[in-house]
Amino acid sequence: MLEPAVQKEVDCFMQGLRRRNHGQPEFHQAVQEVVESIMPYLLENPKYRKAQILERMTEPDRIITFRVSWMDDEGNYRVNRGYRVQCNNAIGPYKGGLRFHPSVNESILKFLGFEQTLKNSLTTLPMGGAKGGANFNPKGKSDNEVMRFCQSFMTELTKHIGKDRDVPAGDIGVGTREIGFLFGQYMRMINEFTGALTGKGLEYGGSLIRKEATGYGCVYFVEEMFERIGDSVKDKVCVVSGSGNVAQHTIEKLLHFGAKPITASDSSGFIHDPDGITMDKLNYIMDLKNNRRGRISEYAEKFDCEFHEGKRPWIVPCDIAFPSATQNEISAEDAQTLVDNGLRAVGEGANMPTEIGGVHIFQKNKILYAPSKAANAGGVAVSGLEQTQNAQRYSWTAEEVDTKLKEIMKEIHTQCVKYGGWTNEHIDYVNGANLAGFIRVADAMLAYGVV
Ligand code: NDP
Repeated sequence: MLEPAVQKEVDCFMQGLRRRNHGQPEFHQAVQEVVESIMPYLLENPKYRKAQILERMTEPDRIITFRVSWMDDEGNYRVNRGYRVQCNNAIGPYKGGLRFHPSVNESILKFLGFEQTLKNSLTTLPMGGAKGGANFNPKGKSDNEVMRFCQSFMTELTKHIGKDRDVPAGDIGVGTREIGFLFGQYMRMINEFTGALTGKGLEYGGSLIRKEATGYGCVYFVEEMFERIGDSVKDKVCVVSGSGNVAQHTIEKLLHFGAKPITASDSSGFIHDPDGITMDKLNYIMDLKNNRRGRISEYAEKFDCEFHEGKRPWIVPCDIAFPSATQNEISAEDAQTLVDNGLRAVGEGANMPTEIGGVHIFQKNKILYAPSKAANAGGVAVSGLEQTQNAQRYSWTAEEVDTKLKEIMKEIHTQCVKYGGWTNEHIDYVNGANLAGFIRVADAMLAYGVV
């Protein structure tokens, strides 16, 4: 798809990046998608290449790794590895979530931190990019075990964060419970109540609409894409993956818009409810996942529908796909199946859920494809609003925050159209998001000189 001269430059850059970051496939993938988008612009604007902006942007400012020792309920010593990858603070203090999952490693956190840098830039708020976490599996652990782990993790992380330095939030495996334990330990260590974490409970500095923001924002963005072509998500059949924070609030907002979500999943498989997931059924999922910490298969038993063990939902025909679980959950083959079954649009709630081959299939077939750094930016945007409220020692109403979230998603859509609208008929939102996110960070880096 790229001109041969552009492809050559992309290949050359990627060769160097792979050599410098050996054995980090997720990081290579995230960078490649961006480099393919922005290389034509870089070739037209040599100042960025002269200043080695891309080389510098793909080298994190620092990577902190540390031992997390803790004790389980049986009195056994346990040890995990903790990380914070501070990627880029050219446009504001580092900001990005913490992930607790057994798969966490440097490659995954570097990909997430790199994506976060461009995503935060797209929100137009003053936030740099970072990501962190640990290869800790909260599944099956008691509340006390999770608390002891979080306290040990934060004892080290405290040295590296702060409201003007680095402000972590939640991600996979880190929800309100974990943020509570982490913030409690942070306060104990520094003896100050400052907004150094977001996603906090409402009683202690959290923002209304933060937990809903990623899912809601994703649906707002997809609605913007449809609105631009005189259509709407109303009445559209939607396939959603995941059943955690992002999936739940995506389904909720789809119901507000009159769409029909028919699937949800977890790491053991997916449920297919052709009658549609209603608000009552969604409340069941929320209780199942957030309070009882059960498996999605229980939904199929309760509401008498199919459960597809070990499968992903992309075989179910739909108008819109909302991948909202994890990275690389849509392969090229899945993308082709979705397109063959009449797909019109994709809203990526999860980070980088589509493999590069799948991205190319969506682009080639002119699907309304909202890539994660644009579509799921609502979460970090409301985290930014939480920081503002903390700094003002003031809380906005749910309506006020929701209105600001909508405005931000609209603005991100406008930027994607500006930079991705090379033809009037179809917007390439991948190119649009990558270029808009890149330019703001790159121009700030140029202003700083050699740093
Ligand atoms: P949660 O932990 O709340 O939920 C994650 C969901 O994805 C669960 O249903 C989980 O199933 C499923 N899942 C996790 N790993 C896998 C896997 N390897 N295969 C299949 N299913 C899997 O996380 P969130 O909802 O917060 O995050 C989901 C995605 O959205 C992530 O990519 C995250 O980076 C992204 N995101 C989240 C934001 C937020 O505000 N929370 C902001 C922006 C992006 P199970 O319970 O079985 O593990």
